[in-house]
Amino acid sequence: MILMEDIIREGHPTLRTKAQEVKFPLTEEDKKLASDMLEYLINSQDPELSEKYGLRPGVGLAANQVNSLKRMFALHLDDENGEKISFVCVNPKIVSHSVERTYLPSGEGCLSVDRSIPGYVPRYARITVKFFTVDGEEKKMRLKGFPAIAFQHELDHLNGIMFYDYINNDNPFEQVPNSFPLGEE
Ligand SMILES: [Zn+2]
Repeated sequence: MILMEDIIREGHPTLRTKAQEVKFPLTEEDKKLASDMLEYLINSQDPELSEKYGLRPGVGLAANQVNSLKRMFALHLDDENGEKISFVCVNPKIVSHSVERTYLPSGEGCLSVDRSIPGYVPRYARITVKFFTVDGEEKKMRLKGFPAIAFQHELDHLNGIMFYDYINNDNPFEQVPNSFPLGEE
């Protein structure tokens, strides 16, 4: 199972490297990575297991973060209707997005970043995404709100981008044009 010591932290070159498309069918190693990433998120949100294994709670984990350059990430979170979004995306893409943006008023965090970095991280408010499941089934999905933000955060990892790259260092809480803070739609 993936533990905190398996998650690489900022400064590691893999976090700044673009991950490569995954070929189908997935190898056994790819499948194990996919299920281990999702398992980490599920365990990390379980109070007993997170305490037992010292897991920092997370809603998303990309392969780069466990030092693998495969285009896949896991998400495990609730959408605004309380529906669980829990899957691994392989070769994910944003096919279209809103002009309007959103951001988390409290800023973003990351399992690969051990410090708190305040500031607004502009994200598309609504996205339409395509990805493959581990079994090679193509999915198309519309996301908004927190799931949309989490998807964009994880997709950025696959492109070597960190959330704080978007923060204006001179004015971290500068108003984001054409946006609303998440939770105040
Ligand atoms: Zn992250």
